[in-house]
Amino acid sequence: TLEVKRVFKTFEGLKSDRFYVLDDVDFKISENEFICIIGKSGCGKSTLLNLIAGFTKPDNGEILLDGKAIEGPSAEKGVVFQEHGLFPWRTVKQNVAFGLKLAKRKDADQRADYFVDLVGLTDYKDKYPSSLSGGMAQRVGIARALATDPKLLLMDEPLGALDAMTREKMRVEILDIWQKKKKTIIFVTHSVPEAVYLADRVILLKDGQVKLDQHIELKRPRQVRTEAFQNYVHEL
Ligand code: ATP
Ligand code: MG
Repeated sequence: TLEVKRVFKTFEGLKSDRFYVLDDVDFKISENEFICIIGKSGCGKSTLLNLIAGFTKPDNGEILLDGKAIEGPSAEKGVVFQEHGLFPWRTVKQNVAFGLKLAKRKDADQRADYFVDLVGLTDYKDKYPSSLSGGMAQRVGIARALATDPKLLLMDEPLGALDAMTREKMRVEILDIWQKKKKTIIFVTHSVPEAVYLADRVILLKDGQVKLDQHIELKRPRQVRTEAFQNYVHEL
């Protein structure tokens, strides 16, 4: 269980006035839920994800993972960054293997190969990030996060730079991994249809607050629920 408890976060504004990016954000996520966080650019999605990842701390409130306060980044949390965040001095495969080597896993080499293949970059595994397109780099980021099989997977616009076809393919892959591997996923996206297609539950952030926290009717086919939800959100 992940508990985000009355979290406030401020940043320095342009005129050195502080402003609230997160203003009393409060929700709870059960194990194995697939949550999408949506909201306009600048509404605080990445800020929230960074707090959960443990890269920054809230000004007020707390975030608990299985009852324990999040102290910093850890192996049980995998992160896919909005900007891919690859190590430029490591090859594709070395980037994917990074967490596995850190965890001293004996199967690091095979697993890295497997996940490089999964995201369709077999031919690029010994190349450096500088020689990849934006979408390819993003896929390396996804492979790196998946490789260590974290309990909690935080994904910040992971499909943003992908072409439509790869995006569709990666969506299916991510759903498949989630269904097979039993993990909690928090997935940030700008796209309402994508959110509804993927998630059990959608959280809408606006003005630093949770404006909507909605469970999706899982029995409905994904296409139908996408349309219904889209109409609903446009009315907000
Ligand atoms: P996008 O969809 O464009 O990625 P977002 O919802 O992820 O947007 P955040 O990156 O969380 O938005 O930013 C929320 C607000 O906080 C913005 O106004 C941004 O300018 C501000 N902000 C984010 N990080 C910092 C920082 N380190 N210092 C000052 N202001 C920041
Ligand atoms: Mg962002």
